[in-house]
Amino acid sequence: MKAIYIDGHGGNDVVHVGKRPKPQRHAGDVLVRMQASTLNQVDLYMRNTGAGITHQLPQTLGIEGFGHVAECDADSGLKVGDAVVIHPGISCGQCEFCQRGDDVLCTRISLVGEHRDGAWSDYLVVPASNVLLAPSYLNAYEAAALAVTHLTAWRMVVTQGQLKAGQTVLIFGIGGGVSVAALQIAQAMGARVIVTSRHAHKIERAKRMGAELGIHTPDEDVVKSVMAFTGKRGVDLVIENVGEAVWGDAMKSLVRGGRLVTCGATSGDQPPADLRRIFIRQLQIFGSTLGNLQEFKDLLAFCEQHQIRPVIDRVYPMDQVHEALEVMSRAEQFGKLALDLSA
Ligand SMILES: [Zn+2]
Repeated sequence: MKAIYIDGHGGNDVVHVGKRPKPQRHAGDVLVRMQASTLNQVDLYMRNTGAGITHQLPQTLGIEGFGHVAECDADSGLKVGDAVVIHPGISCGQCEFCQRGDDVLCTRISLVGEHRDGAWSDYLVVPASNVLLAPSYLNAYEAAALAVTHLTAWRMVVTQGQLKAGQTVLIFGIGGGVSVAALQIAQAMGARVIVTSRHAHKIERAKRMGAELGIHTPDEDVVKSVMAFTGKRGVDLVIENVGEAVWGDAMKSLVRGGRLVTCGATSGDQPPADLRRIFIRQLQIFGSTLGNLQEFKDLLAFCEQHQIRPVIDRVYPMDQVHEALEVMSRAEQFGKLALDLSA
């Protein structure tokens, strides 16, 4: 079958579009004929180093996707032809975290496209519990984007961030998939949204989507702008995945008792902790990655209720995956870069 895989680590020359063995389905599993997927930062990480993630080469890339059920058990609750989305976290079901329902913390979690072959292929096999019916109001690319990008944003904004209607959230680096998803979710909840970007056109786009304030970081001070907007109070929640470059501003933008949720560190992962500020102002800092199966179900219901559509910037055929990876590495996109796995 056709797949996009890596046979080493480095630049785009380790990424190939070619033949890989079709996966075998066992009892309890579902064989999905893949149709669409979107790119995530971790795809670049797997290409570049994959360090710290146990995996075997060659490995098929891609951590999420949309497709149709090709084979399943009769009692799986699914049937051949169902349009589905895939949760990438395959958990053990037995450790203390799985037992309490937070399977994304599973000590033996195996992630599609990281620890095992990914979704950028004709077929993918995953346990039936990782396969959910796709919302019918979305196209294939939009649906694919929910499982990682929107799920990550959901856990950050709702579970960890505890954002409520009327509260204010500051989202750094609007344009990336998770930032745009966080904007959509926060806005649908009735929160007030502030975004930052180095690019004026990304701020304009975010404002059209409901952001009340956009801070153009090359010529506007984040903390001053936030304090002016909030009457010197600060924001209830910061959502960020930039890391070191924005950490100081993020801390200083929070109201007393405010929360910061981080899911990435593209600019560096060792910022000054600013401990005095953290304990005196009683700030709360949360790390977050992906989301569990229950959160995925809650997200799908919320998106359907609010008719949230993931923003797809561009769609590439499989053969142009190298260009797509380069565009993402330069952070040129607004929203998601998608792959057509049927082309
Ligand atoms: Zn577990």
